[in-house]
Amino acid sequence: MELSSYISSMYGLGPKRAEVLASEAGISTIEDLLYYFPYKYIDRSRFYSVREVTSDSSYIQLHGKIKNIRKEGNGKNARLGCIFYDETGEMELIWFKGLQYVATQLNPLKEYIVFGKPNFFNGRFSIAHPELEEYTPNNVRQCVGWQAVYNTTIKMKKSYMTSANIRKIIYNALASLNNPIKETLPQYITEPLGLMPLNRAIRNIHFPENLDSLQKAQARLKFEELFYIQLSLLRQSKFNSSKSQGLLFNHIGDNFNEFYKERLPFELTNAQKRVLKEIRADVGSGKQMNRLLQGDVGSGKTLVALLSMLMAIDNGYQACFMAPTEILATQHYNNIRKMLGEMGVNVALLTGSTKKSERKIIHESLLDGSMNILIGTHALLEDVVQFSNLGLVVIDEQHRFGVEQRAKLWSKNANPPHILVMTATPIPRTLAMTLYGDLDVSVIDELPPGRKPIKTYHYYEDKRDDLLRFIKKQIDAGHQAYVVYPLIEESEKSDMIAAEQGYEYIATHLPQFKVSMVHGRMKPSEKDAEMRKFAANETQIMVATTVIEVGVDVPNASVMVIESANRFGLSQLHQLRGRVGRGAEQSFCILLTPYKLSNDTKKRIETMVGTNDGFEIAEADMRLRGPGDIEGTAQSGLPFDLKIADLAKDGEILMLARDTAEKILKNDPALSNKLNEILLIQLHKKSKNIIDWSKIS
Ligand code: ADP
Ligand code: MG
Repeated sequence: MELSSYISSMYGLGPKRAEVLASEAGISTIEDLLYYFPYKYIDRSRFYSVREVTSDSSYIQLHGKIKNIRKEGNGKNARLGCIFYDETGEMELIWFKGLQYVATQLNPLKEYIVFGKPNFFNGRFSIAHPELEEYTPNNVRQCVGWQAVYNTTIKMKKSYMTSANIRKIIYNALASLNNPIKETLPQYITEPLGLMPLNRAIRNIHFPENLDSLQKAQARLKFEELFYIQLSLLRQSKFNSSKSQGLLFNHIGDNFNEFYKERLPFELTNAQKRVLKEIRADVGSGKQMNRLLQGDVGSGKTLVALLSMLMAIDNGYQACFMAPTEILATQHYNNIRKMLGEMGVNVALLTGSTKKSERKIIHESLLDGSMNILIGTHALLEDVVQFSNLGLVVIDEQHRFGVEQRAKLWSKNANPPHILVMTATPIPRTLAMTLYGDLDVSVIDELPPGRKPIKTYHYYEDKRDDLLRFIKKQIDAGHQAYVVYPLIEESEKSDMIAAEQGYEYIATHLPQFKVSMVHGRMKPSEKDAEMRKFAANETQIMVATTVIEVGVDVPNASVMVIESANRFGLSQLHQLRGRVGRGAEQSFCILLTPYKLSNDTKKRIETMVGTNDGFEIAEADMRLRGPGDIEGTAQSGLPFDLKIADLAKDGEILMLARDTAEKILKNDPALSNKLNEILLIQLHKKSKNIIDWSKIS
């Protein structure tokens, strides 16, 4: 057999099972089968004797014979039992399902390997539904050591493709190969890094010789997986940047200078200055900028965006600024208008609720070039929105936007505009590197001076009286409070109910204060009106659902209460908390939960109480949920399928893979060197598995 042979041609694997493997696990060739990696391993490195079995034994294996095979009960209550024994004692084996098949497998003359978790019941030890295998040298070889466990689906199990059977099929496939598995990485990479050859790695990943070779096999296969993704991303982005001409912003002009010198209400933080320098270098390079700006909530990203937009204007270009919600777009618009004052920069707001007549004027002024900055929501993406000379696109809180939506903005100019994507949901470095390929990353890792870190407390729900007293005290001292409720279910209606019930509660228990409310079912103009009242301190408490989550800025608010905090994800909690702590006063975040909490929830709450650092929180989030579920990737999905590497754990291997790929492309950008032929072949083969995100981002 060859790697490319179809599994249906394997001895002992009928067409029906081959079909199930294809439809359920995408396995059609021997190669697919060998790349169906186990998800865990069980220690079967030794045989236990019956005498050693205790009531806290975990999964163990034994070998011995069976006797007293008997069937008891009928119909649903039917069961099959037998005595298993070795020279040290006896125990029981029991089956409740598949009795007929099992009965044909039991033979008192044979010796067996038994594997399972012992129970102590009715005065003796038993194992229910053990794995049972004849004790032959071949089986011993397969069963002993670190044993692979494979994912199976219900359909696979129905066709008897249990983990144990998949292991056997893989064993046979490996034995049937005519030649060793061909290396997929050049020797000049594998040797200096001490990577295990592919042939050995594949064999060890399924049938580890010992723990050490298992770990080496894993490292090798993880490296390979991450390396080819990096090679592909880096190669694509090099190709893109060589092709597309970037707009050149080569001077700093009046608008920038006037704003910076005369209007900036405070000194920029060092981090803001550094990021601006990075942006200036990009837009002055003649290449298109693709920059991701990460900065924790409140770190002052908007100002960086505004200064960048002024650079565009000074160089004769227009800029647009896209926000995910109407509240935010409006807030940016108001802030930016206020900051620019009488400077003579034209700014417009375009959202879903912009009137038709206004729209028309905006469209015209964009086309004739008299409009300098357009701020808005998804409405910016519509085809009727055309610019005369769009030079910079800023996208705030990018994870709310789908990939195709972003791609639409790119195409609003003949030459692609510079792109600045801003996010307050820090993405772990490993994920950013993989997800955004060659997006350059800037980080604002410093908050404006004078901010006090938010104090976060965990309250159980029965402490509501204390909580109400606390809110009252804060408001009496002149501050304001948010109280946020989770969605009971994913619908606008439930959003409204949650908010209305919360409103009731707060209004009854704190009747002396005025209360605002926003929820997903309100019209944008209604939400806006409520927000404005709160911002003007006409109301002291804002009851809200998660629509309040992103970006909203009311510096006088010092308390964030999150009801049923257990229902929120970590990055959401962090975002919500970021709504306070924006002024100079001490702010507080209170997480309310019921008593009974799952382990994961406990960890989330502990993380929140323990740190204010968004990056730390993002890392914890990725560890808890896996990279595929991190906010921002969950919607759009990872652009590739990781079979073995784990972005939460394999950061070091990823760095190594990226470094290696970078070095190779530096020396041989086209991969035309004979030594790199193997890389081209592999890239081509794997390309179906990697969506090209660098083209989009
Ligand atoms: P982000 O969008 O990063 O969450 P914002 O841009 O909304 O943060 O800024 C948060 C607040 O901090 C705003 O009120 C802003 O005016 C203020 N701010 C920004 N930069 C500075 C600075 N260098 N010094 C003081 N305050 C600043
Ligand atoms: Mg913001």
